[in-house]
Amino acid sequence: MAANRPDSYFQAGSFLMKITDVKALYPNYKHVVPSWRTHFWQIVVRVETDTGVTGLGYGGGGVASVEVVNRHFRELLLGRQVNGIDDIREAWDALYAESLPYGRKGIGIMALSGVDLALWDVLGRAERVPVYDLLGGKKKERVQSYATGDDPEWYRELGFTAHKFPHRWTGNDADYDRAVASAARARELFGPEAMLMIDTYMTWDIPATLEMSNRLAEFNIYWFEDVLTPDLLEAQAELRPAVKPILLSGGEHEFTHHGFAEIARTGALDLWQPDITWCGGITAGLRILDIARDAGAAVALHRGGEVWGLHLIMATEGLDLAERNPGRRGAPRDELWFGEPQPQNGYLEASDAPGFGVSLNEAMV
Ligand SMILES: [Mg+2]
Repeated sequence: MAANRPDSYFQAGSFLMKITDVKALYPNYKHVVPSWRTHFWQIVVRVETDTGVTGLGYGGGGVASVEVVNRHFRELLLGRQVNGIDDIREAWDALYAESLPYGRKGIGIMALSGVDLALWDVLGRAERVPVYDLLGGKKKERVQSYATGDDPEWYRELGFTAHKFPHRWTGNDADYDRAVASAARARELFGPEAMLMIDTYMTWDIPATLEMSNRLAEFNIYWFEDVLTPDLLEAQAELRPAVKPILLSGGEHEFTHHGFAEIARTGALDLWQPDITWCGGITAGLRILDIARDAGAAVALHRGGEVWGLHLIMATEGLDLAERNPGRRGAPRDELWFGEPQPQNGYLEASDAPGFGVSLNEAMV
């Protein structure tokens, strides 16, 4: 490989690596849940360099996000150097600034996330180290994983020791009974000490959340997730003390350190859940963690059990809990990435392969 590099790549003992192509694509999913995600699910971003090293990233925003990368970000990235994490930070800031009129939150930042992660992958592969080493090295050997979904018997069989189940408010009293039944079943399966959480996906309201905190008190629920929409920060700040000791969590629909600074300022949430493939990648994740540290907020990444978040968790003190979404027993699943670590007895460990350590299932692209 080195023999193919022109002399101009070498400078002060190291070599310069420049971006030669950027391409986003939307995989041929067969098993995406039918919702807004049908055409707006995860994208793949490939960054090529003049050294032959290629990086892959995972972003959100679907077909619209693919256009943002290929028709806007690509031209801003061509010729940029990627020789250290400062270069990635500068590229992030440049893309954020250029996309600001239509970006800041949502699809623009989901697209930026895919680019950012591909740049971290490129740098790790070029230096032949895992991304957690670029971030300062492992701070823990393994991370406890929790299973999100509605097949708790199967998650228990898979070895998970913590669990989050979904609950959707439909507007009648039977909703309380369903929540109690789900909590009782999960508590019995996972035992008295296990962490149990509820994801309401923005369907509860203030009275329902207060009533749930009373009715579910005996089940010792660790957090209620996304009880209101992410725009209602003040309301969640008022709700927080009323549901203690249950934590209010959220943040999967928030973006960048600017968005999380608002959560900090309003005191809306006890526990933040940025999604590394949506909120702006590792670069935004690091900035969000700085804000969380100052604010005294806990952080548990949304989908943190996938490699993109897992490397950040492994490299960061205090960050724990890696979310997985195993789905239901026997249900067909797309396998887009090869080499994703699998939980062992409820724990996950990122591999020491270069970059994020995964390769793309080319049959899906
Ligand atoms: Mg959620």
